[in-house]
Amino acid sequence: MSEGQGRRAIVVGAGIVGVCCGIELRRRGFDVTVIDRVQPGESCSFGNAGILAAQAVVPVPMPGIMWQAPRMLLDPEGPLVVRLGSLGKTIPWLWKFYQSTGVEKVMRTADAMKALYGTTVELHEGLAREAGVPDLVQTSRYLYICRDPRNADTENSLTWRLRRERGGEIEVFDGPALREVEPELSPIYKRGVRLGPMAKTLNPFRLTSSYGGLLRRQGGTILTAEVKAIRPDGARVHVDTNAGSHQADVAVIAAGAWSLKLLQPLGLNLPLIAERGYHMTFANPGVALKHVISEIERQFAVSNMEMGLRIAGTEELGHADDPPSWRRAEVLKRLGKEIFPNLNVGEGTRWMGPRPGTPDSLPAIGPLPGHPNIYVACGHGHLGLTGGPNTGRIVAGLAAGERLNLNLAPYAPDRFGAASETRNVA
Ligand SMILES: Cc1cc2nc3c(=O)[nH]c(=O)nc-3n(C[C@H](O)[C@H](O)[C@H](O)COP(=O)(O)OP(=O)(O)OC[C@H]3O[C@@H](n4cnc5c(N)ncnc54)[C@H](O)[C@@H]3O)c2cc1C
Repeated sequence: MSEGQGRRAIVVGAGIVGVCCGIELRRRGFDVTVIDRVQPGESCSFGNAGILAAQAVVPVPMPGIMWQAPRMLLDPEGPLVVRLGSLGKTIPWLWKFYQSTGVEKVMRTADAMKALYGTTVELHEGLAREAGVPDLVQTSRYLYICRDPRNADTENSLTWRLRRERGGEIEVFDGPALREVEPELSPIYKRGVRLGPMAKTLNPFRLTSSYGGLLRRQGGTILTAEVKAIRPDGARVHVDTNAGSHQADVAVIAAGAWSLKLLQPLGLNLPLIAERGYHMTFANPGVALKHVISEIERQFAVSNMEMGLRIAGTEELGHADDPPSWRRAEVLKRLGKEIFPNLNVGEGTRWMGPRPGTPDSLPAIGPLPGHPNIYVACGHGHLGLTGGPNTGRIVAGLAAGERLNLNLAPYAPDRFGAASETRNVA
């Protein structure tokens, strides 16, 4: 008999992380209910850049980044913005971010990222096949581009060393060679660095909602309700919603950028912030790309999707539920035209989503301290689509009492201290 047989698990959140946790718990025999106030994939997992970043080993807090931050912050169109209303809550988070920028810490983080994200392509391919949408996952390569070749120093910079030493395959294209591999690019871009292997999805929302369909076919339930509180009660857990209370043997908090509202009353003040990002998607772009593009200097990504061409980026630190600053999306539109002069920006849709961000770029995965039957699965920041499937396996494996061949310490939910000073910013 499987370890989960006859036991009930409730997952809060039907984003990519929660849905993957639900699927993996169901595989281990748990009776699974996923609860969300919206339909699967309608929050941050809706509008991301769709990259299954198997080579993601470079955290955001890198040595020297604090020196670049003021310049970025002073540029009203720059990639980093701090919303003034949330400044008091952002500063403690930035302090912990700064503490994560030492070289040794970065090397450890890179290893933990590789361990979590390195298998994303195989895992998503398997899930997409089971969910009946294999065409939504396609192998691809990343093309990093920059105007100044010094910004992609593949020989000497720590960024590229981290990637190379962890198995990234790297090719450099300078000048006209760059136009040969990506013909629509503007000539203002002087260097491109191709990185792989990796993959992308053609539609992150449809992928997540198809995984929700898979969970239902496996016998899981997806309930539409708002979770108000999680109350431990010995070996049981009560999950109170606006539509009644549910009991379970195991609860998983996978509520993305809103997770802190449920974690704080349980004693965990995880430094979790909403790293708000934006996208513009152009239905008739008039240009077709051969790669997923990552623009190094302005820090945004461009990818062909089934809905058109998507430009995604921006890091706006603030509250998840504050109204969007659509100016950020307009900046992406202008940058899109700079990078691809032939881009048709006529029919564009815009979107904002809150990435659930921790200061060290690693998610919080594992049991909640003091409550061994409540699990945390949040804080994937820029890489939740990539990390969803493996996070699901880890959480479900822990709940089923499996021995995992993975050091979980780097993802420990209490690694910043159980009573960190950062308060709820979501
Ligand atoms: C512009 C942009 C580009 C990105 N590009 C990529 C990329 O290319 N590759 C990649 O890997 N990642 C990317 N990401 C990051 C990725 O989208 C996120 O990390 C991921 O979607 C987070 O998933 P999640 O399930 O944790 O959160 P969400 O998708 O936000 O899901 C959390 C769910 O919890 C629900 N919830 C919260 N509180 C409650 C409650 N109390 N009761 C009921 N329900 C609740 C919410 O309604 C929500 O549906 C990008 C993000 C952005 C913004």
